[in-house]
Amino acid sequence: MAELNAIEIRNVSKIFGFGEFAFAAVDKASVSIRQNEFFTLLGPSGCGKTTLLRLIAGFEFPTSGDIMLNGENIAAMPPFKRPVNTVFQSYALFPHMTVADNIGFGLTMLGRPKQEVRDRVAAMLRLVRMEALAGRRTSQISGGQQQRVALARALAPQPKVLLLDEPLSALDYKLRKDMQIELKRLQAETGITFIFVTHDQEEALTMSDRIAVMSSGKILQVGNPREIYDAPTDRFVADFIGETNFLKGRIKSVADGVADVDTPVAGRISATVPQDFHAEGEVTVVLRPEHAMLCPPDQPAACQMTGTLENVVYFGTDTHYHVRLSDGETLFTLREQNKPLQSARFAEGDRVGIALEANAARVLRN
Ligand code: ATP
Repeated sequence: MAELNAIEIRNVSKIFGFGEFAFAAVDKASVSIRQNEFFTLLGPSGCGKTTLLRLIAGFEFPTSGDIMLNGENIAAMPPFKRPVNTVFQSYALFPHMTVADNIGFGLTMLGRPKQEVRDRVAAMLRLVRMEALAGRRTSQISGGQQQRVALARALAPQPKVLLLDEPLSALDYKLRKDMQIELKRLQAETGITFIFVTHDQEEALTMSDRIAVMSSGKILQVGNPREIYDAPTDRFVADFIGETNFLKGRIKSVADGVADVDTPVAGRISATVPQDFHAEGEVTVVLRPEHAMLCPPDQPAACQMTGTLENVVYFGTDTHYHVRLSDGETLFTLREQNKPLQSARFAEGDRVGIALEANAARVLRN
């Protein structure tokens, strides 16, 4: 028998307010989160990530739809009965209590025997590498250390699912990078399903097994980081994650999931069509900047497009080029990896050609 999903969100909506003020913070969302997964809800501020997390935790109840945990419907179950724990952005630690007492607090409240609490606290201190600070008050430790204590406290009762609401947003850049690695390690070592909320695209891409991209309460696309970055099916997803180019065109024909698209700026190009999508007529094609190359403009056989190089931005590992295409409107972005000590081939103001990598373009659903 196939393993049950850790969490299944089935057509869940959450409406706040009434009548003309009614507002869907989560709008008919469906997604399955697997056992042992590092799953991320990614989207801009106000898209409904926190509300969806609070619905899973039981701090809110859905207006409609069902939430299943290991196959059991928990939509109406109160939060304290759910085998789910949350790490909040603010950590919510007790400042006057020691690190060890904070970690053991939930277990003590559950009435677990003293020895069991002591053993679990010791195991959790080891897990987050905080043994040396067990007796310190949490008001006397750093932000990164507080984050570890909050994690240890949430993991101590061995929840089936850990919910993490932007847990790294209060940390500075370097500490944030360290904690990203630490969180991945904790997830792998404990085998607990993590559901992580962030609005940071890079964080989502580097940490997650799979990502759900949300906008205006809707889940637009679910996939692993590569699928989300390389094969966005939706305009919002393509735009929200990384830089991208959109080209308008008209589908001429489709064979084996690849469309022949006639574009005003690049002529005929091949573009992969999303699954179960039968497009005709006008479409938008997306192409990431690293799937195009600058070439001399006098080689029409090699370059599909020409334009004027408006802007060159050096980033160390790569260089970004912005080219105003010959239609006078479209600004096309390219990214090329730098080779050590290579001198720039083109300068701002040059006329340039652009060669598109074969099979890299994709037709969007909208
Ligand atoms: P952020 O990253 O800023 O926390 P988010 O994606 O987590 O944003 P939510 O906090 O889920 O978004 O909010 C989604 C929408 O629902 C927002 O427009 C918010 O104002 C609204 N909202 C959230 N909670 C309530 C509430 N209790 N009553 C009314 N509206 C609410």
